[in-house]
Parts: sequence; C-alpha cells; structure tokens
Amino acid sequence: MNSEEFRQRGREMVDYIAGYLDNISDRRVTPNIEPGYLRPLLPEDPPLEGESFNDIMADVESKIMPGVTHWQHPRFHAYFPSGNSYPSILGDMLSDAIGCIGFSWAASPACTELETIVLDWLGKMVGLPEAFLAFPETSKGGGVIQGSASECVFVSLLAARAHKIRELKISHPEEDEGALLSKLIAYCSKEAHSCVEKAAMMAFTKLRILEPDENHSLRGDVLAEQMAQDKEMGLIPFYVETTLGTTSCCSFDNIKEIGPVCEKYDVWLHCDAAYGGNSFICPELRGPMAGIEYASSFNFNPNKFMLTNFDCSLMWVRDRFRLTQALVVDPLYLQHSYSEQSIDYRHWGIPLSRRFRALKLWFVIRCYGVQGLQKYVREHCRLAKLFESLVLKDDRFEVCSPVHLGLVCFRLNGSNSVNQKLLSSINASGRLHMVPASLGDK
Ligand code: PLP
Repeated sequence: MNSEEFRQRGREMVDYIAGYLDNISDRRVTPNIEPGYLRPLLPEDPPLEGESFNDIMADVESKIMPGVTHWQHPRFHAYFPSGNSYPSILGDMLSDAIGCIGFSWAASPACTELETIVLDWLGKMVGLPEAFLAFPETSKGGGVIQGSASECVFVSLLAARAHKIRELKISHPEEDEGALLSKLIAYCSKEAHSCVEKAAMMAFTKLRILEPDENHSLRGDVLAEQMAQDKEMGLIPFYVETTLGTTSCCSFDNIKEIGPVCEKYDVWLHCDAAYGGNSFICPELRGPMAGIEYASSFNFNPNKFMLTNFDCSLMWVRDRFRLTQALVVDPLYLQHSYSEQSIDYRHWGIPLSRRFRALKLWFVIRCYGVQGLQKYVREHCRLAKLFESLVLKDDRFEVCSPVHLGLVCFRLNGSNSVNQKLLSSINASGRLHMVPASLGDK
C-alpha cells in the first residue's frame, strides 16, 4: 500500500469506525455464537500473497463483528466502563504512526517528556499532594503510565519488597535475602481486586486478607491489630494495599485511619483507585482521598472512566528512587549521556519497550478540558442515582450497597438462585450485558 492508497483506506476506515460507533445500539451487545465459531470461517493457513483491503474489511463485518462483545454499546453494563472517545482514538492513531519505543529519554525524548508533563497535569487534576509530582526538579516523586492496574499493584509491591529487604540487610547483614523474604507479609481487604493476590503470589510474599467493615471499607484498627499480632509472631509487615472504589461495590478503604498505621510500622501504602480515582477530578468527590498524604504510591485508570482507550493506567510514587531501586538494570546498549538529567521510564516498570501512550491522554485532556471531563464523571454519577431511585421505587428489587459514582448493586428480593436466573436471562437476550457481584452472602 503506498501513501496515496493509505490516505484513501484511512478515510474509509475512519468512516467505518464512525459508522460503527454511531449505529452500535442496533447491534446485540453480546455475540450469539459458541466457542470455536471463527475457525471454520477462516482459512487454515495464512495467505501467501497480500489480499485486497476490501476483502479484509468485508470479513471484518461478516466474520469478526459477529463475535465481538460491544463494550461501547449503550446497554453494556458489565464490569466497569471501558473508556473511549474520538480524541483518544485519534491520539492513538498518531502514536501508532510515530511507532516509537520510548524506553529511555534518548529513545524518543518527546515520548518521555510528554508522559511526565501529562502525569503532572493529571496528578494536579485529581488533587494529589505535590510530593507525587515530578516538578519542581527538586521533587522525588513522579508519575508513569503502566499497562494495567494489576501492573501498578505488582510493581509497587516489588518496590516495597526490595526496599524492606534492603533496610533489613542493614540491620541484619548476616541474614540471607531468602530468609528475610519468608518473613515479609502484605495486607489487603477481602474486597481488594484479585490482582493483589496475584501480585503477592508472583512476588513470593505472604498476604493477609482482612475483613472490611459493614460498609465494605477496610479500617485502621483491624489492620493495626493484625499487624501487631503478626509482628509478635516474627513476621515483618512491608506492604498494605488499599482500594478506593472496590470492584464489587465501589466502596472505599479508610486510608485516613490506615495511613498512620503504615507510618508507625514503616510499611509501603499503596492506593489502588483503578475506577474511583477518575472521579477525584471533581473536587466534591475527593472525600475518600483524605489520608492520601500517607500513601507511597497511587494508581488510577483513565481507560475506565476518563474517555481514554485501554491501555492507560497511571501510577504515581512519592519517592521514585525507591521504585526504581527495585527495577534498574543498566546494560551498555541502553545507556545514554543524559541519564542524570532525564527520566528513563524503563526503570519504572516491567517492560523495556513502551508505546507513546501519553499522546492519547494529552489529546483527551486538551479536547475536553478539565471541565469537560468533570461533566462526564458527574453525568455518570447522576445516571447512577437516577437508576437507584427507579430501583427503590419498585418493591420487587433492593439496592444492596450505598451507590458510589456510576455503580449500582441491586438484586431481586428473593433467593440467590432467582437472581442468578434473572441475570442469565438478561445476558442470554443479548439486549443488555451485566455481571454479578457477591456481597456478604448475597
Ligand atoms: N483494581 C481494581 C479496583 C479494579 O476494579 C480492577 C479491574 O476492574 C483492577 C484493579 C484490575 O485492572 P486492570 O485490568 O487494569 O489490571
């Protein structure tokens, strides 16, 4: 394809995308197919010679789309929203065209510098303390784009683990790292996302899963009591994961109470606000951030609730040197002469190669402005409250937990099995898509 042909196909693709999104509500939300549906529809072997673009696009509509779950559909109510918008799509198109691999400042300076600047913008937008921002230059903090909230949690746990072991080696130089590792223990609430369990498993550290209160919020006294017991048993607390906007019911752990406990025991406090953190761009929704000054790290996903496509998970740390200490390896072929004056994001996460993801965020923030994004979040909250009021008016249903942000947990009054039946028939209809949550015994 030459550039003239690309221009023509590009126009057709943009028309197809705009048409897809304009008319998405005419489609079923979920596909009506069985596993393995695609194999008989496609050739067993790849084509030896290039095919026409028209043929490929015809197959998109006739073979691929019937197997797509339409996350942008207005009647898709499962999981959390999957952010998207035209500015984000266009920003990502440009990033694809530039096609740089921005692992270090030298590998593509604008890729690194825009990421740092946009993360500072967003840090200010959600009201993070200044210590988390990369500027002024004397600051030790800073933000980075990771691939997912799971990665943010894992990376923060690795940093906390490395930091604690380094500290322990100073006071116990004779102890082997493996022996110290076997004593480390992390904490989270029963309502934390499963990625915390996965992170602890991958890092070979113990994890204590704690009971939240009746509002599904982890409280400081529960943590303090457990940590004291664990210390008595010879274990070493090193990491606490809190959630601001839990997956099942959007509850918020009480970081104002938990923070001082972490400070007392010199433990890394991470706040996972994958969904809820987006709402903090509205000052009136920042109540759950009280205590954020105690956090060592914080993450949220604009790809959930801020009109930005996956992948875009933002993570800030108060002390970037504590993060990078756990992750730096520096082979000669990746070194450059500006490393003292610049950020090399390859030291902030697991992958070496990184896409130019800051572009789409920059497009989104500039096209909507802070006020446009606030309006979007407030509209989600308004709709959730409206839906809650409709459910409350109908005595066949109950609302199961306080409604926070855009999430309403509701059920039929009656047994769990009748609720499962209702959910299955809703999903089988293809007209709506929803997922279950389990709260207490319901
Ligand atoms: N943390 C919370 C609170 C979540 O709700 C989710 C997903 O819904 C995750 C983490 C995992 O997010 P990711 O898919 O970005 O790893």
